[in-house]
Amino acid sequence: MQNGEIAGLFLELADLLEIQGSNPFRIRAYRNAARTIENETESFELIVKNSPEELQSFSGIGKDLAEKIVHVVETGSFSQLEELRNEIPVGVVQMLRLPGIGPKKVGAMYRELALTTIDELKAAAEQGQISELKGFAKKTEESILKGIEHLAEMGNRALLAEAKAQVDFIIEDLSQLDSVQKISVAGSCRRRKETVGDLDLLISSDNSEEAMETLKEHPLVSEVLQQGKTKQRVRLNTGLEMDLRVVPENSYGAAMQYFTGSKEHNIVMRKKAQERGWKLNEYGLFEGEKQIAGDSEEEIYTQLGLEWIPPELREDRGEFEASEKGTLPKLIELKDICADLHMHTTASDGTASIKEMAEAAKKLGWKYISITDHSKRVTMANGLDEKRLRKHWENIRKVQEEIKGIDILCGIECDILEDGTMDLSEEVLLEADWVVAVLHYGLKQPKEKINQRLLNAIRCPAVTAIGHLTGRLVNRRKGADMDMDDIFKAASDYGVMMEINAHPKRLDLNDLHARKARDMGIPIVINTDAHSTKGFDVMQYGIFQARRAGLEKKDVANTRTLKQFRKMLRTSR
Ligand SMILES: [Zn+2]
Ligand SMILES: [Zn+2]
Repeated sequence: MQNGEIAGLFLELADLLEIQGSNPFRIRAYRNAARTIENETESFELIVKNSPEELQSFSGIGKDLAEKIVHVVETGSFSQLEELRNEIPVGVVQMLRLPGIGPKKVGAMYRELALTTIDELKAAAEQGQISELKGFAKKTEESILKGIEHLAEMGNRALLAEAKAQVDFIIEDLSQLDSVQKISVAGSCRRRKETVGDLDLLISSDNSEEAMETLKEHPLVSEVLQQGKTKQRVRLNTGLEMDLRVVPENSYGAAMQYFTGSKEHNIVMRKKAQERGWKLNEYGLFEGEKQIAGDSEEEIYTQLGLEWIPPELREDRGEFEASEKGTLPKLIELKDICADLHMHTTASDGTASIKEMAEAAKKLGWKYISITDHSKRVTMANGLDEKRLRKHWENIRKVQEEIKGIDILCGIECDILEDGTMDLSEEVLLEADWVVAVLHYGLKQPKEKINQRLLNAIRCPAVTAIGHLTGRLVNRRKGADMDMDDIFKAASDYGVMMEINAHPKRLDLNDLHARKARDMGIPIVINTDAHSTKGFDVMQYGIFQARRAGLEKKDVANTRTLKQFRKMLRTSR
């Protein structure tokens, strides 16, 4: 069990307690503990196994919490959390997914208006009951209604990072069984889509019963919805549903191909089989009754005259043509990355020092990083003004003198203000090694205005890259409206790079935009936007997004040496 999963349970507990209206100090204590656990580089699972007495040496972890942590590691949960999960209706917890609505507000609506489902909430908001509650404005009521509409469009989808963490945990446990020969996730999770509707897990095994019994008892599973001889459907604690399918070994590749999808990709696959007088299904590729391929995906693709197509590209967006011609991209991999150009420290809203971030990055094998704390417009994150920024850079240079083996660039994440000017003077920005310009505020401005802001930033000679371009939050907030052609054209003309922000909630650029930017000759940077040393872990999601865009190592600037990277920066630098 990873620290992030353990922390997640305590954050869930804190949310449920807040909904229930418990003592704020207790709630804060659990949140602080969760943060401690999440930011700790040592594995809590190992601490529990080797020296549980050490738990109480961590800040904010007392006897009670230490006991709960031991329980979590041993059983995947603890009784207080289970009781609250039973007590508070699922519909109430779902309200937390509405943008701008936290547990405090959800708790007020649940306790004072007895609202227990999203439908009831919608009716109450439409009747104006919400804005009559203490602490709720008319605007909150409107944004609740908008949020409900958006939620309906999204359906009950989870972020890839959440879904993947859960299925990886289950795979780790099921793969311990002797009767399980092969195991893998399929479906949209394997294609690394930004969100996942439900999970598909495939196993090749000669004892399907053992796998199903084990899954049924797994700490992440809350109930079995359906069970047959070779298929089991379960609901996870998070509400996400998962199908487990047990297939014979000689059909494993066919099943992987079939259940990985996408639907559009598989339509073409079946057509290609039909053209040859064959039949393709989840059991194999058949000529009459005879199976001519099935135990591996590669075999199936080869029989159909294709090179094996990476799952991230299976969307019927040109991958078949490329596969036939032998021009499939050699997709970028995590190991190709050797730098990260967007991260925060305690100077703004990060939790680690410059040195801690640099050392953690070095441990990952990265060769250079850029420290990019917030500019002053972001007051709630303690953004830097010109004076503090210069002092911060001085500190960075001092750290650089103490630490070898990694280069630290003096950077800044500079806001593009609502009026289209930069938050800091051009003079100070030109002193930076690296400037990521971003929109944080005024995302709802009309398209022309947003375009103008971005074009201004791109034309500012100090700006080296645009970060999280649209400002969208996956499943929660649509990004700013803009004309991508205009923006990318300008970025390409002025030599400004574009970021894929790897944070699972952002993943901005999306796959199509990243592909377009690359096609227009713009170097892409994949950055974590880490706010702690643990924050570097999300780099993989940026890589997934880049792979879905068909990006290769050469398309991504932070795969280069610092020397090469510097040469790619705009010439005015
Ligand atoms: Zn930002
Ligand atoms: Zn940032």
